[in-house]
Order: sequence, then structure tokens, then C-alpha cells
Amino acid sequence: MWGRGFASTARAAVEGRKWDAVVIGAGHNGLTAAAYLARGGMSVAVLERRHVIGGAAVTEEIVPGFRFSRCSYLLCLLRPSIIRLSLTFHTFWIFNRTCPSLFVGELELKRHGLKLLRPMAAAFTPCSDGRYLLLSFDEDENRREISKFSRRDADAYMRYENQLDKFSSIMNFLLDSHPPEFQHEVPSFSDRMRSRVQKSVFWARCLRQILSMGQKNVMDFVDLLLSPTTKQMVSIDSVRSGYVLLHHVMGEFDGDRNVWAHVQGGMGSVSLAISNAAKEAGVHILTNTEVDKTISPPGKHVVSLFTQYTPYKPSNGRWEDLTYREQYVQRCFSLIDEYAPGFSSSVVGFDLLTPPDLEREMGLTGSSIS
Ligand SMILES: Cc1cc2nc3c(=O)[nH]c(=O)nc-3n(C[C@H](O)[C@H](O)[C@H](O)COP(=O)(O)OP(=O)(O)OC[C@H]3O[C@@H](n4cnc5c(N)ncnc54)[C@H](O)[C@@H]3O)c2cc1C
Repeated sequence: MWGRGFASTARAAVEGRKWDAVVIGAGHNGLTAAAYLARGGMSVAVLERRHVIGGAAVTEEIVPGFRFSRCSYLLCLLRPSIIRLSLTFHTFWIFNRTCPSLFVGELELKRHGLKLLRPMAAAFTPCSDGRYLLLSFDEDENRREISKFSRRDADAYMRYENQLDKFSSIMNFLLDSHPPEFQHEVPSFSDRMRSRVQKSVFWARCLRQILSMGQKNVMDFVDLLLSPTTKQMVSIDSVRSGYVLLHHVMGEFDGDRNVWAHVQGGMGSVSLAISNAAKEAGVHILTNTEVDKTISPPGKHVVSLFTQYTPYKPSNGRWEDLTYREQYVQRCFSLIDEYAPGFSSSVVGFDLLTPPDLEREMGLTGSSIS
């Protein structure tokens, strides 16, 4: 079990000491920021409300005896540069003061225990008539699979994937670029010059990326960012708008775009690896955990019901009503049984996170995960 009593220990550690930075929330973003700040030479404390670190990237024992990813379950968006070891040039600006530029390594998450596993398939869609669509990460296989249903769709899908490839390169560029520095104090002449050079380099690179896409692609890119999407297999990644779709395709695993990795030990292992890197850099967090390899015995399942797309306030009942929740779970299981007969009898335990649960437990306003 991770860090039970974390809050009181952290409070004791924080009291009576002046910190350069206090990070509120030990989600993976907070932990990452803390690790980088500490590597930049700052004293850093992370305060987490829950008894476990990780936020929505968490492995928990909700079903007794089984530890599994409770919310986020696949890793793709964590930038490769954070996972890798490399030497980069960083300037930190925080709490009205600019830290000297430093050479610091990235977080080296593999050395800190992160083990990513390549998934066998990208998506599996069973049909009630026994047919199925199995998408992998191989272009030819995907063309064959989609052609089982429609040759036209297979061709269109290849064009669609190629276009997303182009779009994700500009998103990746933006994600990996340092945001412009924000300065309250009157900057010195050398700070002003450095800031101008950094901004010029950023905009020049940005312009080069955009020009390399060509005018039509740029227009299509903007269109995609703002348009709703409707096709079932594709739309699951783009609920709300095309921008959400880009979020789902711009990640990568071992250099392959849009491959979402499983994480050995569940998503909590990502947070654990980051917290290890942070602690090594001197960040104050309490963790005390060992990550256990399988989730459930062969042939059995523990189920995490991630119900983001159900109404916050259902019209036919209330999420607080235990009977209503139980009936909802049974309906979900029956649906899965139609495609995977016997599934429900293999379930040894489950966790249900409805929209109000996500808001209450994880602090996600309105249960929005993006
Ligand atoms: C059900 C679900 C499934 C998802 N699936 C995926 C997926 O498969 N892949 C993926 O990449 N992303 C997925 N996501 C999204 C991803 O998990 C989040 O984007 C990510 O975890 C956000 O990280 P964060 O560190 O910014 O915030 P969070 O993970 O929300 O962490 C914030 C932390 O701050 C703490 N906190 C809040 N307020 C306070 C306070 N006042 N004082 C102290 N602590 C506080 C919270 O307890 C929490 O630990 C999913 C999200 C959910 C909810």
C-alpha cells in the first residue's frame, strides 16, 4: 500500500521549513514538475490529498487481493523525452525568480522501474453476427481487416492515418517546445536578449513546421481541431471534437506513433517511477510500495468500469442508489456476455466509477478527463 499517512508526514516535513516550490497534488503531472524543479536545484515538497500518489494514473487495491489501474489504463501521451535519458538545457522561472540555466538529465523512468509493454492490438470491435474488426499497428493488416467490411473505407482509413501522421508532428513539436517565459520583474538587458532569441527560434521552427505541411493540410488541420467527429471506431477517440482525437493520436511508444502501451503493474507504476526520480532529486514524498505482475488468476477478471460517457445525472435513477448501481453493472456485464459468453461468471470483483465518483474521488470537475 502506498504512502498511508502521507498527509500527516508531509505536513510535519513541510512545517518549519521554507521551500522553493510546493506542488499541490501528486498526480503524474505534479510529480513530473516536482522532479524537474528539484533537478534544477530547488527544494520541493509535494502535498497529496489522497492516501495514494498518482492521481488518475494510479494502481489501487479496490477489489481485495487485486491491484489494478483504477482510471487511466494505457500510456501514450507521456512525452518520450521525459521517459528517456538525455541531456538538455533548461531555464526555470518560478516564484518571481529565474534559476540559472542548468544542464539536467531527463527523468530516466526505465531506470526508476517503468516497464512498458507493447499491446497486441490497437482495437477490437466484435459484431453480434460473429464478425469482428481487429485493428493492429500494421498498415497492411489493417487494410485487410477493414476490407472485410468495405474496400472504400479501407482506402479512406489509410489516407486518414497518413494525414493524422502529418498533423501529429506539429502537435508533438508544440508539446515538446518550451513555453515562452513569463517575467514580472524588469528583466536585465541580457535576459531580454536571451528571451528574444528563444522566441525567435521558437517561431522560426513553428513556421517551418507549418510551411512543410502545405496550405491545404494546414486548413484541414484547423478544420479537424474544431470539428465534431461521428464515425464509431474513430469517434471513440474524439468525443467532443477533433482536438481530442489529436490527443489520442499524437502519443507514441518506442518511436511508433499512436501506439498506446500497457504498463507493467498498472498506471500507478508510471507515477511510482516518476516519484522515484523525484525522490532521487530530493523531492519530499512518502512512498512505500512493491508492484505485484498479474492482476487476476488465469481465466478470471477484476473489472474497472470506466463510465465517463454515462450521464452525470441519469434520468431513470440516481448513482447514489446502490440498487441502481448494481443494476447498471449487471446491464454492462450482460452486454459484454453477448460478445464474450461467460464473461460475467469469471468476474471476481469490480470497481464502478460513475461521473460523480470521478468528480468526488479524483477531483475531476464534471468528470471531464481531458
Ligand atoms: C477514468 C479515466 C481514464 C483515463 N484513461 C486514460 C488513459 O488510458 N490514458 C491516458 O493517457 N489518460 C487517461 N486518462 C486521463 C489521465 O489519467 C489524466 O489526464 C492524468 O492522470 C492527469 O494527471 P494530473 O497529474 O494532471 O492530474 P490528476 O491525475 O487528476 O492528479 C491530481 C492530484 O491532485 C490531488 N489534489 C487535488 N486537489 C488537491 C488539493 N487541494 N490538495 C492536495 N491534493 C490535491 C488529487 O487527489 C490527485 O492526486 C484517464 C482519466 C480517467 C479519470
